Amino acid sequence: MGRLEGKVALISGGARGQGAFEAMLFAQEGAKVVIGDILDEEGGKVETQILETGGEATYVHLDVTQNDQWQNAVELAERKYGKLDILVNNAGITQSDFVESLSEADWDRILEINAKGVFLGTKQAIPAMKRAGGGSIVNTSSIAGIVGRFHSSPAYSASKGAVRVFSKATAVQYAADKIRCNSVHPGPIDTEMLRRLDAPISLEDRRAAVPLGRLGTATDVAYGVLYLASDEASFVTGSELVIDGGITAQ
Ligand code: NAD
Repeated sequence: MGRLEGKVALISGGARGQGAFEAMLFAQEGAKVVIGDILDEEGGKVETQILETGGEATYVHLDVTQNDQWQNAVELAERKYGKLDILVNNAGITQSDFVESLSEADWDRILEINAKGVFLGTKQAIPAMKRAGGGSIVNTSSIAGIVGRFHSSPAYSASKGAVRVFSKATAVQYAADKIRCNSVHPGPIDTEMLRRLDAPISLEDRRAAVPLGRLGTATDVAYGVLYLASDEASFVTGSELVIDGGITAQ
């Protein structure tokens, strides 16, 4: 029996990277998965891959900054699969910048996707989780949401710090409804996001800064998210799971 047998999950940013691995792992573990993203072609491919390997998944266009698109994604999960048990707020963007050169437009865009997107998803998922008798929300923050990172955009750090404490506020407000909420804090994970950030520090320099001596993989993060999403973590809420190869332990 899978670790998510009988569960219905919605994963934002599930078309590629960590979100796609989470969708595939969740389906392998028995969940029915709704994959939301703005990359429709890639998202459709993840859906097909899951269906071809005997899992259950549906891709839906979901821009996390749009409340009506969240409503639509949650409704789809309930209509097609009967309920919503798990929300993974994974979608996010980043850039490298310094406070003085960061534009207001970039600040707003990063905060809107990374922080407001998490708020909107959580807001729409909670009523459905109440109808389901409980649920688990896993929010993807970053180690940049815990400590300052020289080459991260300050807006990225601010957005991920917001996600970290928003998760705790949600955990406290909805514990009585049996809705858990936790945050995950990956270090450098070898995905498209990190590869596009190759300047000003190379992937090799990033790897060298990790005590465990390697970059993380999307699978490393997906297993942490799986644990928090599952009933194995039924006494875990408002917590932070750091998956960073030891960077923040130093
Ligand atoms: P990625 O760029 O491969 O994936 C991000 C996904 O989010 C993409 O599919 C993208 O289309 C989607 N997305 C972006 N804007 C969106 C929007 N408005 N609406 C819906 N979807 C949108 O990167 P990843 O590494 O898989 O990132 C996943 C999460 O992990 C992000 O929240 C990121 O900030 C976080 N994170 C990544 C790293 C890393 O080193 N890669 C480290 C810490 C945290």
